[in-house]
Amino acid sequence: MSLRKVLPEENRKQLKEDDAAKRDQGTEKKHKSTGKSRGRRAAALVLLLAAVLLTVFVLIPSWKYYRAGRLVKEGSYEEAVTLYSSLHGFRDSEEKILEARYLEADDLRERGNYDQAIALYEELGSYKDSAAQITETMLAKAQSLVNRSRYQEALDLLDGMEDSAGAEEIRKAARYGRADALIRAGKPETAAAELLDLGDYEYSETKYRNTCYELARNALLTYDFTAAESWLEQAGQTKDAPQLLELVRNAADYVYTTPYLKVAGADDVGTSYLWLHSVLSPGSAAASLMMQEDFTLGELDGTFGGDPLDYSQKDWNGKLTWYYDYSGREDGTWMLGALSSDFKKLRTERVDADTHKKLAASPQTRNWKLVTVPQTADAVREGFRTRKKIELANKGNAAFYYMTDSARVNHVCSDTWCTKSGIYSVKDADTRRWYCADHYEEYTQDPAYDSAKDPNSGAEEKSGEGTD
Ligand SMILES: [Zn+2]
Repeated sequence: MSLRKVLPEENRKQLKEDDAAKRDQGTEKKHKSTGKSRGRRAAALVLLLAAVLLTVFVLIPSWKYYRAGRLVKEGSYEEAVTLYSSLHGFRDSEEKILEARYLEADDLRERGNYDQAIALYEELGSYKDSAAQITETMLAKAQSLVNRSRYQEALDLLDGMEDSAGAEEIRKAARYGRADALIRAGKPETAAAELLDLGDYEYSETKYRNTCYELARNALLTYDFTAAESWLEQAGQTKDAPQLLELVRNAADYVYTTPYLKVAGADDVGTSYLWLHSVLSPGSAAASLMMQEDFTLGELDGTFGGDPLDYSQKDWNGKLTWYYDYSGREDGTWMLGALSSDFKKLRTERVDADTHKKLAASPQTRNWKLVTVPQTADAVREGFRTRKKIELANKGNAAFYYMTDSARVNHVCSDTWCTKSGIYSVKDADTRRWYCADHYEEYTQDPAYDSAKDPNSGAEEKSGEGTD
């Protein structure tokens, strides 16, 4: 049974129409047989174009993209970024540029190129945690500066930052190191204040007490018993501080309340220039001292030259008397000072070296007078201490370097925290200040700068040109 027989009438009709359509198509194909090869070429062109497009827009970018990724892994960030940039937004290449930059900044920091790393993170702006990485990099840089003993630079950097976790520990380490450097440079007083402030950080407390002890010793060297007492109290049990404190308290008694050193059985007691000139008059409540009448305060200026004279106490005709001697004098005479046991009648006279007899009409006979004005007494005392400090500085005690312009002393910059050598100096009536090249601006702003510039002023502009 054929299909046509079982199909309803209208379906058979449809099949007939379909057959007719097929016949029509057959005749059309015969008509187009001449354009067949041209069509193939067009198709080939389309394929070629597709292949080219695929290569240009997909394969090459894909390869570049892959290659750039490799370069990032190899640490060739610049090349990688150049390659990503040539992709003009292919896939997530824009994002990859940022990622490469971010990794490069991290790499720079690891290798210690902190400034370059910070600059990169700043360029990255809000990418990932770049802002936090800037802080981290600054902290790493500060720590690196501390490790290289560049404490002040570390502190300047930290001061320029907002407070962050980790900054405080680095700051303490920097201050601790700086205090050490200050001690070595001859600035123990500044160091002591720092160490005290650092409290229980590392060995700050022990270092502080040791520094106080050294400061007390320095004060003793210049007969500043009041300062010595105070520093020794701070020094606590350091070394022989307790014993020294006891002695200092007595020494202060001697200097300020009695005219002579009490040394039992001593025939020849050495004492200091300062001591003799600082004796307060017994029984007098007001500050006063004996001084040579021709001794002016001008001579007590820090730059006043000459060696200090050592006075001694000696049994002289049955009485303890004060004297000093110029035993090396060419003319064979001695200067005998204070030929009296009564300090109120002290005189300095020139005597024969052998007989110790007073030479008539000695031009160097000096009378002594009692100074009762407290300010004058203080100024005289301070004058002697200043001279002593110069001496000590010349012997290499860096704690006294501000006192002298001598080329023999290695001066340190007067800027509070600076430990560099002072090259430029200015002075006024009380003190001398030094500045390193870094603090040249402070030097020019010093009130004494104008006179220091003037070659006729007596103050010099550079070290090594002084008159001391
Ligand atoms: Zn300086």
